Amino acid sequence: MIYDLLVVGAGPAGLFAAGAASEKLKNVLLLEKQSEPGRKLLLTGSGQCNFTNIRPLPEFLHAYGTHGLFLKPALYHFTNQAAIAFFKTHGVESVVVEDTGKVFPRSHRSRDILKVLLERCRQHGVEVRYQHPVTRVEHKSDGSFRVYTLSPINTLPRTAGIHKGRSGHDIRYPAASRRVLHSGTHEFCARRLLIATGGQSYPATGSTGDGYRLAHSLGHACVPPRPGLTPFMIRDFPWEGLAGTSFKDMPVTVWHKDKKVKTLTGDWLITHHGISGPVVQNLARYALAGDQVTVALVPFEHIETFKNEWDALLARSAKLSLKAWLKYFPLTQALTRSLMELAQVSPAETVAHLNREKRLAFFEWLTAFPLVIQRLGDFDTAMVTCGGVALDEVNAKTMESRLVPGLYFAGEVLDIDGDCGGYDLQAAWSTAALAASKMIS
Ligand SMILES: Cc1cc2nc3c(=O)[nH]c(=O)nc-3n(C[C@H](O)[C@H](O)[C@H](O)COP(=O)(O)OP(=O)(O)OC[C@H]3O[C@@H](n4cnc5c(N)ncnc54)[C@H](O)[C@@H]3O)c2cc1C
Repeated sequence: MIYDLLVVGAGPAGLFAAGAASEKLKNVLLLEKQSEPGRKLLLTGSGQCNFTNIRPLPEFLHAYGTHGLFLKPALYHFTNQAAIAFFKTHGVESVVVEDTGKVFPRSHRSRDILKVLLERCRQHGVEVRYQHPVTRVEHKSDGSFRVYTLSPINTLPRTAGIHKGRSGHDIRYPAASRRVLHSGTHEFCARRLLIATGGQSYPATGSTGDGYRLAHSLGHACVPPRPGLTPFMIRDFPWEGLAGTSFKDMPVTVWHKDKKVKTLTGDWLITHHGISGPVVQNLARYALAGDQVTVALVPFEHIETFKNEWDALLARSAKLSLKAWLKYFPLTQALTRSLMELAQVSPAETVAHLNREKRLAFFEWLTAFPLVIQRLGDFDTAMVTCGGVALDEVNAKTMESRLVPGLYFAGEVLDIDGDCGGYDLQAAWSTAALAASKMIS
């Protein structure tokens, strides 16, 4: 049997593409290596699924760093509003978080989004095979694709507990014994192939970078993958004891060898080993271990006003202690204490005794406290993968390979990574919708 389309990966991109293409194509096969679909999708937005963002599209493009331009045709083909309307048509109403523009299903359950995708596949007769990890693909001289998988022979129970063995005896399984044994290979043949295997982050969900190897075997270059949307671990971190302290709408800047790389403004927080929060995670795609990062502890305008009022303050209350002076700023007591320790000034010292040099240094700290990135989070903690199938070898207007006719890509397997806020899922919907529409046109 020759399938009209074979999709590898039952994540958001693969499910969406298979469902859309099967409205016209008769034989669509979806191969998934896990025992169930959309494991990562279920985790999104802490299980609530922030599936897009309502920012206007021209602004939207900036959420993908320098790669937004590649996504433009896809995002305009299937917009954020189209995604909201699509899920609404399938019974999932959405809600918007005012200040961030994040869109969630009203139920706040990612499972509802997954259900819609699965139901569309079911209705259009997509053949879905789980526990079929694709290990190899070939492009034949007649233009078709051969796809090889390992096929399952035995799945041990998913949960810990006692289960009846074949002979009727009880068998005790710890949770860790969950595994699938594979036997031999299966071979499938298809006219078109869509690789939607995702990136390499959260590998337990099934995204282990297989798509890069498959694409590479078909002649595609891949930008080396690295963790994206991760926290920063900080060298000699001074605020270990202050984990949980958070800052709203502050500029954070990454510096490489004293050269400014990128500044973003948003919310950040202190963790046990460094800093995290949306603005830090969004900066991860620009940062390297060893780079410096400066974080604002108080809003810049606040400092400017304060600097302007400094002389008046001195005249008014020269005997003000440093500790009392720092109360003018919206800092926690613990952070104030820490800053004074780091600056080696006594809390009892008065502002009049704070020489100009120290005062300016303090001001600088408050708006740009310097830290050094020891390392970024790894793939186990990164929410997205930077890097992937190189974009210059993929047609942005069709998602088809420029090297191999009939080969398509969708979702995170591409060298695309979005900011926090629903941009990655929107990229998955849009690239999948565009690829499917071009396949069937
Ligand atoms: C904790 C967490 C929270 C997130 N929250 C959000 C959020 O709220 N909003 C947002 O926009 N983004 C979020 N993201 C990012 C988003 O989940 C991903 O960008 C999105 O899932 C990518 O979709 P995809 O279909 O391309 O890949 P994936 O979701 O990774 O799916 C790929 C599928 O392919 C399968 N597969 C892989 N290799 C093979 C193979 N060899 N054979 C067969 N099948 C294979 C995998 O098992 C998997 O099912 C989050 C990510 C994480 C980790």
